[in-house]
Amino acid sequence: MFEITVCPVCAGKVRKIKEDWVSEFKGEKYVVPDLEYYICDECGEPVYPHEALKKIEAFSPAYQLAEPV
Ligand SMILES: [Zn+2]
Repeated sequence: MFEITVCPVCAGKVRKIKEDWVSEFKGEKYVVPDLEYYICDECGEPVYPHEALKKIEAFSPAYQLAEPV
């Protein structure tokens, strides 16, 4: 797997996080369990690797609505 080590925003050091990732779509909360992503130690910017984005897509109601019928 492709490892991210540097923040794309400020080139600071990022650290890997694994946690239940909570977000909101149209006022409704949803959780992506055990999501692995990175947070920049310098600017706090979250960095989502491809795998994380795929996982968010799988759980997000926004993407489910966007699916073709
Ligand atoms: Zn940064």
